Amino acid sequence: MSEDEQYARFLRERREEILERVAAAAGRAGRSAGDVRAIAVSKTVGPREVLLARGAGWDAFGENRPQELGRKLEALGQLPEMAGVRFDMIGNLQKNKINQVIGRVTLIHSISSEHLAEAVSVRSEARGICSDVLLEVNVSGEASKSGFAPDELRAAVERVVALPGLCVRGLMTMAPVGDADAARRTFSGLRELAEELRGRTGLALETNSCGMSDDFEIAVEEGSTLVRLGRCVFDQGYALT
Ligand SMILES: *Cc1c(COP(=O)(O)O)cnc(C)c1O
Repeated sequence: MSEDEQYARFLRERREEILERVAAAAGRAGRSAGDVRAIAVSKTVGPREVLLARGAGWDAFGENRPQELGRKLEALGQLPEMAGVRFDMIGNLQKNKINQVIGRVTLIHSISSEHLAEAVSVRSEARGICSDVLLEVNVSGEASKSGFAPDELRAAVERVVALPGLCVRGLMTMAPVGDADAARRTFSGLRELAEELRGRTGLALETNSCGMSDDFEIAVEEGSTLVRLGRCVFDQGYALT
């Protein structure tokens, strides 16, 4: 077997295992597996690996840097195999990079402040589009994490959802690393906040983006509708536990 064939096989088998685990976690929470989407975070791999992952069945990818997103889209965007494949922006977005992202991604997960929301709104409106976005919330309160503090979002949400050119689809968070209990509290906190904001805004806020390689099963048990998986998808040295 060639190296590509061997890696393609790993990607296929790993994807099946991930989807089984997602389905099992959904089942434990009385949810349907179809309510949870998994995206493959391709930020650490190149176009070749993305194409192999596409062949293995992945149809949605996440990137965290606009420049890398552009590189992947240029390398892959026109290939017939990539038709219908979506890319999401999941990482910190600087204001001067917004134009490299809007209109090119399906969903921006990382609207982390009211200022950024306003900037994406202005640029989207100027292009005559509505950008689908998630509001990133720092549920755990760690100083190292970006995102709205929950109270800050409660205060700002009505203004943010009223911005033109911005379609708010839900919330996103990241859990503390290496602490399963803290991760669970973070994810359940996101779900409760989404419920509260649904009541206040009248919006569906249907997307709860949370869960990464180390904690996606906990996230699905706690209501995630979109898990963002990097290492466990692409890294043959990453062991699912
Ligand atoms: C890198 C990254 C992920 C994927 O993390 P893994 O631990 O590799 O699964 C998910 N979300 C964001 C925002 C990331 O930057």
